[in-house]
Amino acid sequence: MYLPAASRYANPAFYRRCGRSGLKLPLISLGLWHNFGGTDSYENARAIVRRAFDLGITHFDLANNYGPPPGSAEENFGRMLRTDLVHHRDELIVSTKAGYDMWSGPYGDLGSRKYLLASLDQSLRRLGLDYVDIFYHHRPDTETPIEETMGALAHAVRSGKALYVGLSNYDHTQTARAVAVLRELGTPCLIHQPRFNLLDRWPEAELLPVLEKEGIGCIPFSPLAKGLLTNRYFAGIPSDSRAGHDPRFLRPEHVTDAILAKTRQLDELAKARGQTLAQMALAWLLNHTTVTTVLIGASKPSQVEDCAGTVANLQFSSGELAAIEQILAAD
Ligand code: NDP
Repeated sequence: MYLPAASRYANPAFYRRCGRSGLKLPLISLGLWHNFGGTDSYENARAIVRRAFDLGITHFDLANNYGPPPGSAEENFGRMLRTDLVHHRDELIVSTKAGYDMWSGPYGDLGSRKYLLASLDQSLRRLGLDYVDIFYHHRPDTETPIEETMGALAHAVRSGKALYVGLSNYDHTQTARAVAVLRELGTPCLIHQPRFNLLDRWPEAELLPVLEKEGIGCIPFSPLAKGLLTNRYFAGIPSDSRAGHDPRFLRPEHVTDAILAKTRQLDELAKARGQTLAQMALAWLLNHTTVTTVLIGASKPSQVEDCAGTVANLQFSSGELAAIEQILAAD
């Protein structure tokens, strides 16, 4: 039987308030997009989740389509909730999303009320839960009126099937509009999930200011650029790496010499700070006031341990920040 580590909540500074809400999230959250599906090793996935929970990671992020096959990550996590985590539901923040293609026909995609509420019911069945903590619209849908999509999120909360709602991949204009509609409906937006990392900084200029003004937390996804902002590819492309075995979203040709030149220099800087490159990349994100938590992925428990170690050094000198900018700006 799994007994979580008694020390898991030893560091209160590991939790940060999400925007202006009452909810605290761990600085490191774990996403189950890759390595938790039906084609992956269940025992490895289980070991990663256990290690994360032992380290105080209370937030686990899913979506209807995570797998492969779609839905299997929720099924696998549901199995862990029934076994290892059965006595810990109230210590967990479980999120799921709908917005991408999930089932055939006109009602299994995008942002209609029909799709979102049916998808949430399906997710709850796969997870074996009565409610999720956060329900997201996964991507904007410009064809459906925003009132309908936000109305579906608000309904999910009113019906008790979600505690909070979030937006993902919305740009700053779409976010401002959605947030206003949610507020009118009496269901404030808790959190926004954008792609954001040292190699992809699109949210900085316009999205983060909206989140700051509205009191919404930011949870960057792919904070390690799917593994590029780690030491994973310094000695070639390992066969067990994402680029080496799962070409869906990170292919060998994405591991370019130009990126490696930058990440090797960033790695030197990280070493001088007493950190791994992954830790420095996460600390840099957490140095933004709107960022509540970073949403990592992992293929082994040791990676979660390394990422959790980020909290040992979250501070940057102005010289270090300038050095990072210089490395990133180089051609
Ligand atoms: P990351 O950028 O954190 O990449 C994770 C990968 O980096 C791991 O699989 C592993 O690669 C490598 N890695 C992690 N930690 C370390 C370490 N300490 N040392 C060396 N390598 C390391 O995030 P993901 O791209 O996996 O995305 C994270 C989560 O974000 C997803 O699970 C999902 O929940 C969410 N997400 C949301 C999206 C949205 O549209 N809302 C889109 C994409 C993701 P390897 O497997 O090669 O070992």
